[in-house]
Amino acid sequence: IPRGGASSVSAAAAGARRLPVGVRKPSLRVVVTGGAGFVGSHLVDKLLARGDSVIVVDNFFTGRKENVAHHLGNPRFELIRHDVVEPILLEVDQIYHLACPASPVHYKFNPIKTIKTNVMGTLNMLGLAKRVGARFLLTSTSEVYGDPLEHPQKESYWGHVNPIGVRSCYDEGKRTAETLTMDYHRGAGVEVRIARIFNTYGPRMCLDDGRVVSNFVAQALRKHPMTVYGDGKQTRSFQYVSDLVDGLVTLMESNHIGPFNLGNPGEFTMLELAQVVKETIDPGASVEFKPNTADDPHMRKPDISKAKSLLNWEPKISLKQGLPRMVSDFQKRIMDEK
Ligand code: NAD
Ligand code: UDP
Ligand code: UDP
Repeated sequence: IPRGGASSVSAAAAGARRLPVGVRKPSLRVVVTGGAGFVGSHLVDKLLARGDSVIVVDNFFTGRKENVAHHLGNPRFELIRHDVVEPILLEVDQIYHLACPASPVHYKFNPIKTIKTNVMGTLNMLGLAKRVGARFLLTSTSEVYGDPLEHPQKESYWGHVNPIGVRSCYDEGKRTAETLTMDYHRGAGVEVRIARIFNTYGPRMCLDDGRVVSNFVAQALRKHPMTVYGDGKQTRSFQYVSDLVDGLVTLMESNHIGPFNLGNPGEFTMLELAQVVKETIDPGASVEFKPNTADDPHMRKPDISKAKSLLNWEPKISLKQGLPRMVSDFQKRIMDEK
């Protein structure tokens, strides 16, 4: 394993990206932190399928071994139980840094742990990237825009965020993670990429993670009313997970730092989402209104023109096409509970 300084490893990685036509790309050694989670496990599937060696680093707070169990016999796959708040020594070419609870229910469960994960976890992974000359990609979030005063949101918008609210551990945590990422780039020459991910759904989401798509789908399948918070007129834009994973890999391989919005611009109110879930799963499904949570953004929709023009990326799967793909996975897991 090359242990050399930044120059030798990054030269090898750069070489891997500029091979003459017809020469097979050598496989990369890639770390995916949070790789046992929802998005991470789909990313791992894609990286292994293209021939890379993948190390998953995960503390299993919200991730599950089952999400990557199908790779356990693969010699190119390794699963490490580790908390990114603690330092770790690895030798790799690329780091996809996803480790962080993403659902409001999970990130509010232990807010101090959430901000430590965002700040100390990101610092450790950037320190690792600096030491071995690896390229580092941060999965930031649309939450950095807070309750936005600009609609749709462009990457140039600085956001409208409450620094002392119950969501701050997550949204201010991710804003600090972006700052650290840019400071390691400017100050230590680390090659970095920043993705701002908008609401994403798909198979392997936690059944009860409290996010709206997983809640509505699980509720409709269990014949419970779908819980609409507030008046249900707030909006979100929902992206299917395979579109996101394609965007993350495209960004990592590109020559652009970002930040890039990665999301599906199709915008729905929560009542409209409930209607699509009803049409997809059960025409008899009902809704029940509940009080909304504090600091809930009123509307959210990505402007993806930057990713379209610079990365040649845009999502392909609409909500109506994506939802049924998630339903069969949820159905199976809900049956297994019984
Ligand atoms: P998830 O909760 O399914 O996955 C997060 C993973 O990180 C889990 O496997 C968890 O066990 C692991 N993890 C958490 N804290 C850790 C720690 N301290 N050390 C090691 N591992 C830790 O969430 P997800 O939806 O897959 O989100 C992945 C990333 O994408 C997160 O960084 C999230 O902020 C970002 N993101 C997701 C969305 C979305 O809609 N899914 C939107 C915006 C941003
Ligand atoms: N770090 C790590 N793995 C490495 C290199 C660094 O976990 O391979 C951690 C290191 O322990 C430190 C953080 O990353 O907490 C930042 O490292 P850096 O070298 O930038 O800062 P320093 O150690 O000089 O404070
Ligand atoms: N929401 C809802 N019912 C639920 C869960 C969430 O109406 O059972 C609403 C929530 O108030 C928010 C939107 O759905 O306005 C998206 O919430 P989610 O937690 O999925 O993600 P966020 O975008 O807030 O991070």
